[in-house]
Amino acid sequence: MIEDKNPQRTPLSELGEFKLIEHLTSHFKITQKSTIKGIGDDAAVLNFEKQQIVVSTDLLVEGVHFDLSYAPLKHLGYKAVVVNLSDIYAMNATATQVTVSIAVSNRFPLEALEELYAGITTAAKIYNVDVVGGDTTSSTSGLIISVTAIGEVKKGNEVLRSGAKPNDLIVVTGDVGGAFMGLQVLEREKEVFKVNPNNQPDLSMYTYIIERQLKPEARKDIVELLKTLNVKPTSMIDVSDGISSEIIHLCKQSNVGADVYETKIPLDPQVISTCEEFNVDSTTIALNGGEDYELLMTISQDDFPKIKGNPNLTVIGYITEEDRGMHLVTRAEEKIPIIAKGWNALKNQA
Ligand code: ADP
Ligand code: MG
Repeated sequence: MIEDKNPQRTPLSELGEFKLIEHLTSHFKITQKSTIKGIGDDAAVLNFEKQQIVVSTDLLVEGVHFDLSYAPLKHLGYKAVVVNLSDIYAMNATATQVTVSIAVSNRFPLEALEELYAGITTAAKIYNVDVVGGDTTSSTSGLIISVTAIGEVKKGNEVLRSGAKPNDLIVVTGDVGGAFMGLQVLEREKEVFKVNPNNQPDLSMYTYIIERQLKPEARKDIVELLKTLNVKPTSMIDVSDGISSEIIHLCKQSNVGADVYETKIPLDPQVISTCEEFNVDSTTIALNGGEDYELLMTISQDDFPKIKGNPNLTVIGYITEEDRGMHLVTRAEEKIPIIAKGWNALKNQA
């Protein structure tokens, strides 16, 4: 589906490991005060002085987490960094460094890795993090990317999953369900393409949701906004698997229950129209679709005036005592238990 705009194909064997690493990483500059030594030694040296350090890692495997028939490598590099930064922001922390490790099979030419690193470089610039190391090795199957993100947070400012209290408000940023529906569109077009490779799909109706899938953003802006508003959430998590499963994580770790209102869940019009087209229920998709990388948090009711009316923050429910359980209050005002289907389980349904 993706046109090969760069027909030049330099085999990796022409460079060898050390030249390859040099080629891919020599342009990375250090911008963070905490980075003492970046790429080029046996290890990076970081100095956070009195700050606490947060660390998070993700592993992305071709065929499991991404499909190169529709995910351009530049976007993939960008996404690999962004999904890790999202975990740092979910701690109410500032991301400062990443390391990037790759395993590549020899079917990838140098130009493919240049694309991947162009995406990594863009993400590092936009989110203001230093790339301070990684590892490069060969793979006998597909492409594997592992990113480790490092960040800092002042002692006491970290927000865990375990701090939600009864009567707290449940707040979600942005809108949800888009990345999952974007994936459905891409999977459908891939099938069409297999049958008729000359068919160039018109995806203009789906630009928002496809971008949500291929080039997600992490909510760095929200961590900054919360600071400006002087709101410290009582608990927080990033939405990687769908809000159902994230609410369950928060409730279980905080020993509380929750009521979430179906009518309050923020949906983009493109999600609603695509759900209609695919004949799937938009609430089910919003609850169980994954990879939105929004933040789901709980805040004290006392902080409500500070967030009221902010278009980035939507109150979707409130925390209850643990014995009340976790429920979705439907449009018909019925209460149904929230269960985690996860977006993998949904894959075959939509
Ligand atoms: P070592 O033999 O100690 O593993 P390498 O030769 O693999 O060292 O790496 C040399 C330097 O390049 C190190 O600073 C390492 O962190 C960095 N590096 C290696 N591979 C990557 C990569 N894919 N992306 C970013 N930095 C890398
Ligand atoms: Mg190495």
